[in-house]
Amino acid sequence: MNCKIPLLCLGVLACPGLRAQKHDTAITVADVTRTEAFLSSDAMRGRAVFTPDINRAADYIAGRFREAGLKPGQGNSYFQDFSLLNVTPDTIAVTLNGTAIDPEGIGVMTSHPDLDWTILDSAQVVSVDASHSLGAVIRAFRAGHSNVLVLLDTISAKTIRRNRRFLNGHFYSPYSLVMVPFTGTPASLSLHIHSVIKGKPLRNVVGMLPGHGPKAREYVMFSAHYDHLGVGQPDAKGDSIYNGANDDASGTTAVLTLAHYFAARHDNQRTIVFATFTAEEIGEYGSQYFATQWDPATVVAMFNIEMIGTTSKWGANSAYITGYKRTDFGKILQKNLEGTGFQFYPDPYTTQNLFFRSDNASLASVGVPAHTISTSKMDNEPYYHKQGDEISTLDMENMTRIIRSIALSSVSIVQGVDTPTRVTGLR
Ligand SMILES: [Zn+2]
Repeated sequence: MNCKIPLLCLGVLACPGLRAQKHDTAITVADVTRTEAFLSSDAMRGRAVFTPDINRAADYIAGRFREAGLKPGQGNSYFQDFSLLNVTPDTIAVTLNGTAIDPEGIGVMTSHPDLDWTILDSAQVVSVDASHSLGAVIRAFRAGHSNVLVLLDTISAKTIRRNRRFLNGHFYSPYSLVMVPFTGTPASLSLHIHSVIKGKPLRNVVGMLPGHGPKAREYVMFSAHYDHLGVGQPDAKGDSIYNGANDDASGTTAVLTLAHYFAARHDNQRTIVFATFTAEEIGEYGSQYFATQWDPATVVAMFNIEMIGTTSKWGANSAYITGYKRTDFGKILQKNLEGTGFQFYPDPYTTQNLFFRSDNASLASVGVPAHTISTSKMDNEPYYHKQGDEISTLDMENMTRIIRSIALSSVSIVQGVDTPTRVTGLR
């Protein structure tokens, strides 16, 4: 590695980990392909949540973490188990300013069978309007610590009416959110909602590589989601398995590869957390749960890896970083890659809100410099969420180079030399 940056040169002297990277030989196309092929095989049946298939993928990931010598991330276990609550409200009686609201227009996110709010003080009251989107309100609720009563404007009320049935998945939280179509100034409230609640089991798989120096209590995360869409209707070719080779067996493969890479180096100063999340495809529930279990202040950076199996719009040896301008994470990564010919770009699909569409958002919303690294051409990726997302459509050589580059790009963060700025202003 050429060293043109004084700070990094100092780091080289201070920490042996910054010396010439052996990454070109340590991360091989053969190993990466073997992992990718296993996770995206038909035998995994698309790794859908709430099926035995995803549990087999989880067992495989835990086995590979054990093989690398990682410490379990949750007590004595690599499995971080939690429940997704299936919430079906069967009684909804809401009166605002003395007028009963149509129950069909009311959205509920709760883990309590009975909600009784008799005064407006029972919940924080938030209005959705042109400047305050429903998505932002829900993100703030998930990251916050209070009940929330959302007053929906006409447009967002239509959205909730159409999508009510998708709201009923929720992991345990002591707080509830109720969305009510109402424009105007609320003066009095009477609310009673009874729901039938059933828990369905989910698990993240988490392993750790303890740091070797005084910064061992600071965490650097590498993550990806290991769930996908499972088995559906056959396509024109008779294929019914959504293999999710790119989405996101490629990211999961990267996390497993990096776990073995850093374990073999055995010189990380900060503790590295390798997390593979469940239930991303149905609402990023795995990473949201993770964010409640880990003090976000201790996480200095999160490298979330999503869909790196195809070449980016700029061709080989490049990838993009979502939310690039929100922190200096991307600049640090690029600095560590100087002279390698690999280029990280800011996310070019700015209208698609990608920063909020993957697991990095769960950590970013509580301040962590958490970004997603991807090569997916979001305007032209023919197999995205299709049965044809198979390993045969991936460029394994380029994917291997991307994993090597991620390893190299992270080195000054892993070694405690650089600390990216925090994400602010998302609440
Ligand atoms: Zn994905």
